[in-house]
Formats: sequence, C-alpha cells, structure tokens
Amino acid sequence: MSEEVIRTNFIRQIIDNDLSTGKYKSPSDVHTRFPPEPNGYLHIGHAKSICLNFGIARDYQGKCNLRFDDTNPCKEEQEFVSAIKADVEWLGFEWNEECYASDYFQRFYECAVLLIKKGLAYVDDSTAEEIRAMRGSLTEAGQNSPYRARSIEENLALFERMKNGEFGDGEKILRAKIDMASPNMNLRDPALYRIRHVEHHQTGNEWCIYPMYDFAHALGDAFEGITHSICTLEFEDHRPLYDWCVEHCGIEQKPHQYEFSRLSLQYAITSKRKLTQLVTSGTVTGWDDPRMPTISGLRRRGCPPEALHLFCERIGVTKSENSIEMEQFDQCMRDVLDDKASRRMAVLDPILVTLTNFDERVELELPNHPKNEDAGKRIVPFAKALYIDRNDFVLSTEDKKFKRLILGNYVRLRGAYIIKATDYKADNDGNITEVIAEIVPDTLGKNAEGIKAKGVIHWVAAKDAVDAQVNCYERLFTVPHPDREEGEIFDYINPDSLTIKQAKVEPALLDAPAEVAYQFEREGYFARDRKEDGLVFNRVVTLKDSFGK
Ligand code: ATP
Ligand code: MG
Repeated sequence: MSEEVIRTNFIRQIIDNDLSTGKYKSPSDVHTRFPPEPNGYLHIGHAKSICLNFGIARDYQGKCNLRFDDTNPCKEEQEFVSAIKADVEWLGFEWNEECYASDYFQRFYECAVLLIKKGLAYVDDSTAEEIRAMRGSLTEAGQNSPYRARSIEENLALFERMKNGEFGDGEKILRAKIDMASPNMNLRDPALYRIRHVEHHQTGNEWCIYPMYDFAHALGDAFEGITHSICTLEFEDHRPLYDWCVEHCGIEQKPHQYEFSRLSLQYAITSKRKLTQLVTSGTVTGWDDPRMPTISGLRRRGCPPEALHLFCERIGVTKSENSIEMEQFDQCMRDVLDDKASRRMAVLDPILVTLTNFDERVELELPNHPKNEDAGKRIVPFAKALYIDRNDFVLSTEDKKFKRLILGNYVRLRGAYIIKATDYKADNDGNITEVIAEIVPDTLGKNAEGIKAKGVIHWVAAKDAVDAQVNCYERLFTVPHPDREEGEIFDYINPDSLTIKQAKVEPALLDAPAEVAYQFEREGYFARDRKEDGLVFNRVVTLKDSFGK
C-alpha cells in the first residue's frame, strides 16, 4: 500500500483493521463496488459514494466494480446506464468490472432453489394486502402465512411454474422463511422473488420473475468477491437479511456490509425520483440542466471534477445525519478554480466608454493567471472605445466604499491605464448611454505621481469585443429543504434561478472549449456551454458568497 493512503474515515479504519488482523492478507484484496440503479442520472449524493468506493480501491490498489442494480425492469433504461458510466469516468475513476445484477439472474434463481430445498423459502399465494396485514407491527409479532407450511416439493414445483410464466403479476411470491416474530421487520419472511411480466433492458423476455433488492444485492456482492459492501444508513436494518442471504446460499468468502450517512445538500434534491419529476415536468431543461445537482448538470455548468473530490473529502464519511450547506460546495469550486482557472474579461452589462485622448489600438499582453506564470499570457486589445460594466460608473456617491469610476475621478483599468471620467451622455430619460473619459498617459502598468486610482475595474475594447450570452444561475429552490416542506417541490422553485445577460467579452474567449471554467475578472467563474450554439457561458459560481443578500 502506498504511504500516501489517507485514513480519514471510519470505513478505512475498518479496512486497516481487517488487514492488520489478517482477515485480508493484502491491501489489493480490498474489493468494493458502486451499485447504482439505472433509473436516473447520478447526483451529488452519488458522488460521495463514488469517491468513497472508488477512492478506497484506488488508494489500497484494490478493486471497485461498477454494478448496475437492474433488478427492477419497469424503471430502468439504457440511456441511464450510459450516463452513469460517463459520470464515473468524468470523476476520474476506472472500474474493475462493469457488472449487471441481471447477469446473475440464473445464479440468483439457483440460489432461490437452494433455499427452497433447505426449507428456507416458500411460495406464498397471499395478495400484497394480505401479506401486509399479516406482517404485524413494531410492537406486535406477525402471523405465519397459511402457505408457509408448504412442502419442499410443492414449493419447488410452484417456483418453477412461476419462472415459466404460468402465473400473473402478483399472483404468487417467493418468500424467505425466517421469523414472523422477529423484532426486525426485515426478517419477517421478506420477499425474495416476484412476478413481473415486463421486458428487461438487458435480458429481454427471458425472465418474468425478478429478484428483490436485498436478495440480489447480497448475492451480487458475494458472487463478485466484494469484501466491503458500503451503503447508506437506511440499509442498516437490512444487514441481518444481507447476512442471512449470504449465509444460506453457500457463499465461502462472505462480504460484509457497512453503512454511512447519505449526503443531504441544502437547496438541492438528492432523490432520483424527485429529480425525474423536475425533468419530466419541464421545470428544468433536462438531467444536465446546469441548475441540477446531477453530476452531468454540474459538469455542464463548468464544475471541475476536482471540486467534487475536494467536497467529498471535506464533508467526510460518518454515520451521523447531516445537512450540508450549499455554500460549502460553492467554496470547494472556488478553491479549486482560483488556482486552476485562467482569467478573462467579460462585461455583463456593458456601457460604452470613449477615451478622448487615445486614438490608437494597441495589443496588451496580459497574464492568464496572477499567481501562476506557467499559465502564460494572452493578447488583449485596448482602444479608444471600450465597454465597462454599467454598475462600475456613477455620477456621484456618498458611499466611501465605492472604489469604481465616479465622474471626475480616477480608476485603474485592469492591466491597462488609469482613466479619469470627464463627462457622460444620457438619453431623454436620463439613462447614461456613454461615459467620456481620458487616459492618464504613462500609467500602463505603473502609477503616476500624485494620481490615486482607488479601484480596478474590468473592460473590453468595443470593436474587438465579442458578443456572448451569459447564463447566471442561482439556487434552484427558495428553501433549503424543498422536499421537507408542505406541498410539492414545485412550490419552492426559485423564479430567478436563471438570468440571461448579453455580454461583451474579450476575443480570447472565442475559442474557449466547453466546460472549462474561466474566471471572468470581478464577476465569477464561467464555462462555455457544451450544447448551445455560439458563445454561451454558464456561471459556475460567483467569486464570493453573495447568497442571501
Ligand atoms: P435515489 O433515492 O436518488 O434513487 P438510491 O440510493 O436509490 O438514491 P442508487 O442508484 O440505488 O440510488 O444508489 C447507488 C449508490 O449510491 C448506493 O450505494 C447508495 O447508497 C448511494 N447513494 C445514493 N444517494 C446517496 C446520497 N445522497 N449520499 C450518499 N450516497 C448515496
Ligand atoms: Mg435505490
């Protein structure tokens, strides 16, 4: 094992302990899996599980399988399989094997037959309601089904007929024979197989009986030689059933399940079912809408994969319920992008500035990054007509903190001259349409005696400027936990989650590649959209936390 392995969480401590006690001989024996159900795109919560499972495999030089939990034929689609693979790859992880629970349908079936032969499973003819009624409650034992005492031969015959399609959906079900009085409801003869006459995206019409999650999941782990099966806390009470399945199906090397608390992120939703609603209702433009907390949405917005890694590292892995502030995630993006992103100038709300004492067009060479020379330089034209942001010019102000351009005062243009605003033009309604200014000669990259420019503003040369659409995104929801409020999540959609601006940007942005974030000086981080034609930029994150202001 490499020395750098970081033992930051309790699961890694368990693995270290398993290695030191000799339960596993070599770190490379450590084998995890990430088991998404392909019924939607992955979200930021899944990123936590991916970083945990694949991160362990990477650091111990073990293995991690990507296993599609495709046991429910009704809800799953090939599109989701492809998207999930693309997301895991984008996060920088490689899977050992690409597996499908459906690959094991024959083996699951054989295990079920084995359980029947051992007298540990039976076919129940009760309806779903009857089964529910006999289940008992937390304070009351359940009742044995009248079909529980069926003979092994009868069960074998009926289960085979179930498989052969002789019964309709819900007519019969295969149940484990465990204990109807167990204090753990999951052990009260849970279902193992149900009938579903539905075509499956991997196995077509080969099967009309499908295994239940708990059974398939435990056995899938066992078949693949998973050592540490890591899942979220809601499965803690399922662990005895997990162990029961592994125990009675004749598995030699037993996987062990460990649970951690799922990520809950404020102002985001981490439930595929609810995210599906946002997509199908048209509330967002798709799974990869840059406002979505999906991995594909974050990627399209311009979030770098390193920011998700950093975020998962910072939030850690524990067993306690948590609700993480969106600000924490935003800060991870800023921390990664501050080092990584090249600087550019873009004026989001342009107003013309005419320099009365400057008639040339010069090409300035500006650094791409203030702290990193290796990032190189780019050419930025400077000329008589410029655009600055409308908010950076006022006629007068009482605000001592206003460090931008005031009529009659000086300001530094980023990377260029100090200018002084001498006059302005306005339309009939009094709206300022143009600022008249002059440069202070000899102030290119240096100061002049006796002249103090309090602030620095960004600009672009008007003739060289390129038109670009800039999508400024805000939180998608108006409340931190839309899924815990009364009513529907749709009642809490932020009507201002997208503001579109027609900006003037510097020409170096013309060939910006998609999904690579730039810092637009003084504005935030922006990345070119992958899907839109022309120059369209998405705001990844603002420079500072402006939320709530
Ligand atoms: P959803 O409710 O969004 O469908 P899920 O748990 O049913 O979530 P799966 O596709 O079954 O989604 O999840 C694959 C893996 O990702 C599981 O191991 C699950 O525990 C984990 N996971 C899902 N959501 C989160 C989350 N919010 N935080 C951490 N891990 C998660
Ligand atoms: Mg699930």
